[in-house]
Amino acid sequence: MTAPATQTHSLLERLGVPAEALRGGPLAVRSPIDGSALAQLPVHTADDVSRMVGEAQSAFLAWRSVPAPRRGELIRLLGEELRAEKEALGALVSLEAGKILTEGLGEVQEMIDICDFAVGLSRQLHGLTIASERPGHRMMESWHPLGVVGVISAFNFPAAVWSWNFALAIVCGDAVVWKPSEKTPLTALACQALFERAARRFGAQAPAGLSCVAIGLRDIGEAIVDDARVALLSATGSTRMGREVGPRVAQRFGRCLLELGGNNAVVVTPSADLDLAVRGILFAAAGTAGQRCTTTRRLIVHESVRETLVARLRKAYEKLPIGDPREPGTLVGPLIDRAAFEAMQSALGAAAQEGGKVHGGERALAEAWPDAYYVRPAIVEMPSQTATVRHETFAPILYVMGYERFEDAIAMHNDVPQGLSSAVFGNDLRETEQFLSAAGSDCGIANVNIGTSGAEIGGAFGGEKETGGGRESGSDAWRNYMRRATNTINYSRSLPLAQGVRFDV
Ligand code: NAD
Repeated sequence: MTAPATQTHSLLERLGVPAEALRGGPLAVRSPIDGSALAQLPVHTADDVSRMVGEAQSAFLAWRSVPAPRRGELIRLLGEELRAEKEALGALVSLEAGKILTEGLGEVQEMIDICDFAVGLSRQLHGLTIASERPGHRMMESWHPLGVVGVISAFNFPAAVWSWNFALAIVCGDAVVWKPSEKTPLTALACQALFERAARRFGAQAPAGLSCVAIGLRDIGEAIVDDARVALLSATGSTRMGREVGPRVAQRFGRCLLELGGNNAVVVTPSADLDLAVRGILFAAAGTAGQRCTTTRRLIVHESVRETLVARLRKAYEKLPIGDPREPGTLVGPLIDRAAFEAMQSALGAAAQEGGKVHGGERALAEAWPDAYYVRPAIVEMPSQTATVRHETFAPILYVMGYERFEDAIAMHNDVPQGLSSAVFGNDLRETEQFLSAAGSDCGIANVNIGTSGAEIGGAFGGEKETGGGRESGSDAWRNYMRRATNTINYSRSLPLAQGVRFDV
């Protein structure tokens, strides 16, 4: 396999990121594949961020008056650029985030899908008409562009999360300032280069400043968070980050869209098709090396099938090919860095202390790549849902707990601080429908007979409780990026007041 740095540089050149942008700054970018250096990037300052937000604000003032279907045309062109460079951008995601190639390509496909969705949406940004109590009056809602949208994103979806926000924000008439994860800034530079290609083809109607990328650490995120000109802050990352960011944005009465950590569970009932369950759990728990917000981290299984299911999962786990994510046969790539590996080991240690029986979890391939962190995904049989289980560890650990009564399974399922994704496997309609009901799963995503991860863009994506409450992507998530005005129009010759109030002189 080609050295990651060599391959990265040629991909970036192809995608339109100049080589000089990759040298001479303090931010070291490494590939999790072998720990080698990919680039030394210059970082922005708080003053740079302020300037970018100013440019984005000016861009917004022009862009908001461009008709929405015309704004959709710009996103259609971005979708074309992404289609043309799907292979290159997908490979770059693999190199920088360590995902297996098919998932890197899947991430770019998701970007193409949201562009298509946003193009259609650009002709459907509709409000309601509402019956007025007054004769000769009409009420309606208008949706208007919001302003500058700040996007802060996590390392594990280095491109798709931006596109979910960006495609909708642009058709909604907003401008975007993006602060990508400091672990995956190269993918962000490539996305910006592809957008600039699309903007050049679109022509002068796309103002400069419509899309800005701010490279740096947490302090650069904070500069966006605290800027009162940022009308909506959309932040994806850990619950710790959301806890810091949420109150700061609220302090200045800004809007926040938070997409934070998950602690997703699969419930397997006695009527489940175990073949489906094994396949569904395997991808959702061990895929992406456990580094998806929707990764299955808890398995709540009926005691009557527990032993069989765990035995089958253990067998499947032993066969998982671990290695260079660019190799076609690999299913489990590396963890993002040493800190992720240490967090995993410490969670496994704590779970063992709490009575857990650990299978797997060891470091792999350390001799071949001493500076990279590959692990064998772990299954941990727990006596109960302990403090360690209730915490999100961003690594491939599947905690298994048994249950006797379905009501207890639902109670255990909901008894964690997070509320992102969930699934039940079963063919008993009473149980699966109960899981989806008001008294069932308390998550933003609840599935039947498929795993917790791998959402499509057509639905709204996000979760409750410590996951932050935000919704992105499909359904009516576009409303986050617009402001609503309620209009009352009087087409009569009199002026009746609402609620029968009289005010005659
Ligand atoms: P992280 O919280 O460490 O960092 C995320 C981003 O926030 C980075 O760009 C970082 O620089 C920035 N940041 C951190 N602290 C900040 C602060 N105080 N102010 C402003 N910006 C700040 O997360 P990570 O390790 O990159 O990603 C993993 C986490 O993200 C997991 O918890 C995962 O569940 C979550 N995640 C959630 C979703 C979702 O849609 N719910 C999607 C992907 C990842």
